[in-house]
Amino acid sequence: MTVPAIDGWFTDSALLGTRCGSCGSYFFPPERAFCRNPACGSAELEETELSSTGKVWSFSVNHYDAPAPFTGKAPYAVVAVELTEEQIVVLGQLSATSDPSALKIGDEVSLVVEELSEGSEEVVWKWRTT
Ligand SMILES: [Zn+2]
Repeated sequence: MTVPAIDGWFTDSALLGTRCGSCGSYFFPPERAFCRNPACGSAELEETELSSTGKVWSFSVNHYDAPAPFTGKAPYAVVAVELTEEQIVVLGQLSATSDPSALKIGDEVSLVVEELSEGSEEVVWKWRTT
């Protein structure tokens, strides 16, 4: 039995974003009030599953344990990923199954839903090198 650490941002296999029905802009976290495109401002936002693959746009390897309430044993990486289809950048932690010291800009990564910390019932999305 697992529960999402944040409600409404992802499923077991995909991030949930919104797409503006007027200008086509994508948002993550899901924007539910108005389109943030200053030239648009439509309230016609539809929930949609986002690409579960992308490329590393930037990253940072931390050599200290994450401070509460975050979890991460040093060294761990936080990755900014440009989604394949939507081309928006989504932050997330690198999966513990991937090696942060081997990470490079442009690496292909895919979404994985994993426990927030070891033994936790809460799960969160992370990125894994492919
Ligand atoms: Zn719009």
